[in-house]
Amino acid sequence: MASPAARAACTVLTGARVVLPTGTVDGARVIVDENGRITGALPDGHDDRDGLNHTDRIDGIDRIDLTGHWLVPGFVDLHNHGGGGASFTSGSVADVLHGVRTHRAHGTTTLVASLVTGEPAFLAQRAGLLSELVEQGDLAGIHFEGPFISPCRKGAHSAELLRHPDPAEVRKLIDAARGTAAMMTLAPELPGGLDSVRLLVEHGVLAAVGHTDATYEQTVEAVDAGARVATHLFNAMPSLGHREPGPVAALLEDERVTVELINDGTHLHPAALELAFHRAGPGRVAFITDAMDAAGYGDGRYQLGPLAVDVKDGVARLVEGGSIAGSTLTLDTAFRRAATVDRLPVEDIVDAVSATPARLLGVYDRVGSLEPGKDADAVVLDADFRLKGVLHKGDWVLDPRSAG
Ligand SMILES: [Zn+2]
Repeated sequence: MASPAARAACTVLTGARVVLPTGTVDGARVIVDENGRITGALPDGHDDRDGLNHTDRIDGIDRIDLTGHWLVPGFVDLHNHGGGGASFTSGSVADVLHGVRTHRAHGTTTLVASLVTGEPAFLAQRAGLLSELVEQGDLAGIHFEGPFISPCRKGAHSAELLRHPDPAEVRKLIDAARGTAAMMTLAPELPGGLDSVRLLVEHGVLAAVGHTDATYEQTVEAVDAGARVATHLFNAMPSLGHREPGPVAALLEDERVTVELINDGTHLHPAALELAFHRAGPGRVAFITDAMDAAGYGDGRYQLGPLAVDVKDGVARLVEGGSIAGSTLTLDTAFRRAATVDRLPVEDIVDAVSATPARLLGVYDRVGSLEPGKDADAVVLDADFRLKGVLHKGDWVLDPRSAG
């Protein structure tokens, strides 16, 4: 990995098909300064004061020809429990950083760490530990997935640790995160659910509907109370029924809601993904991994919080009961699947893996698109959408010149 000291005074990426907020430009130039920021993103041959004519005068220009490749913004993962064999719920600081770096090597340059259900005191302690990593810039925030979720839809969460959403307890977790809580998933139909949604909104924390048994009407109420995210839409909630449309219809139809989708080929049928994508439109879909420790690591026996999980052929299931227990997905794989299996337009995929989650987190002024003034977070993909390079704040995590 390139160290900041080895970074060129200026890096100019040329030749790629670059996905900009305004559309895809063949052969656009992206210029990165010594501070790891984008200073220009220009069509080829564009003559501009901040373009090449200017940067040509700087010593130490690193020119990288990416002809035949895609250049897209770095990925933003809203919902991720770990990777590289490390868990955000139980690992040490070094473990957590290892998990973050594992996902970064797969293109995720902005990551929210998710905690599975645990004892409130334990979750508060984990929030304290993770909040330091948010303050250092290694994480983009903390996501509490539980304990305020429905026992009917517990997925891979411990039944005995679930509880009703008590605003006082919600408040304690927000406080424990010291301003770094980004999101909380809860079941709004439980006693205290709507008050907890309102409390989260008051504190600037995203309220996410998930692991829920809510009806259509209860979900509408939750959105009216301020809920803005659907935690892995379709998974861990009642199915879409023609007389009981349930949370799926309520969350898809409301323009205020962003829906998370796990595009790993296991959690969702391609037709369900297509249905959601077409109903919500690209600006309201966020691809997430919901990854657990085995992401970027391998098959075997793992722990998800207190529960044992077996990973076989990349699919994680609880040892007891066989529920799907998170994924082993990385966002480069979700991107490639969306392009090659789902055949979504590349610009829409970029929205779902970068721009939309960045906007939702309130960090779109810094990341989520290739624009001057933003962090130089970018991903290089070949013509078949295989990962070839990852640039994080101007440093190559994966250098396209050395990738096979
Ligand atoms: Zn999760």
